[in-house]
Amino acid sequence: MAGRAVRRTRFAPSPTGFLHLGHAYAALVAARAADRGEFLLRIEDIDRDRCRPEYEAAILEDLAWLGLDWQRPVLRQSERMNAYRDALHRLAPLCYPCRCRRGDIRAALSAPQEGARHTADLAAGPDGLIYPGTCRHRDMADAAAGDVIRLDVARAFDALGTGDLRFRDEVVGPDRDQILTRDEFRDRIGDVILSRRGMGTSYHLAVVVDDAAQNITVVTRGRDLFDSTWIHVLLQRLLDLPTPLYHHHRLIRDHAGHRLAKRDDARAIRAFRKDGATPDDIRRAVGL
Ligand code: GLU
Repeated sequence: MAGRAVRRTRFAPSPTGFLHLGHAYAALVAARAADRGEFLLRIEDIDRDRCRPEYEAAILEDLAWLGLDWQRPVLRQSERMNAYRDALHRLAPLCYPCRCRRGDIRAALSAPQEGARHTADLAAGPDGLIYPGTCRHRDMADAAAGDVIRLDVARAFDALGTGDLRFRDEVVGPDRDQILTRDEFRDRIGDVILSRRGMGTSYHLAVVVDDAAQNITVVTRGRDLFDSTWIHVLLQRLLDLPTPLYHHHRLIRDHAGHRLAKRDDARAIRAFRKDGATPDDIRRAVGL
């Protein structure tokens, strides 16, 4: 008898602060989406300056308190740098080194030939301002220590010989493909950073390499990351990795309608626990 494919999901927190209600919701959604399949935890700690072991320990403790259980051993991105380096090496022919700082990018985008727009009007993508391509002519052989590495998106689409990208989202539209054209990618996202200064990788590259290495079949994440998913689908195509099913869930907001941030200590799961809340109270608070 043909069995139903086993679903594998993951919750992938960065230990840069305590878990708050939004994370609890994301973790519970990921565990539930596994639907009797496998639920994994991945520690996304590539940003060594911001990640702390005490936050990692607190995250594991809060998740266990919530009643979640996950496969061991837990994968930690800081131990996966070789895998990211290999992936970056494969993509190098489509990349260029970039020395522009945020101020340079803002200045280039505000220049008269670009329409002399106000800084506030400049289009932003998943990682901030859309890169204007100042360093696109540079060769990888000239990469210097302080450079970031960017993907030349036009060259990437040429290499794939495709005009659009597709993925399925079981929440946003289970019966149809989400589609983004090459021009939309250029205008909404642009030449993304694959290796950040001093980091050897970026969130986008690491998450794609690891979701494939861990055979994740359903990636659950907040709707705020919807456009980041296009970057991941492009990288999957370039690296010959499967595109999983996606599940972009709603975001938990505070009373003013703002997204919760890690610095919102008042909404940290720790604070609720100290006030005597139960895991069920947390589930109720996030509408589960
Ligand atoms: N580490 C990322 C975060 O905390 C994971 C998001 C994702 O790729 O699902 O936002």
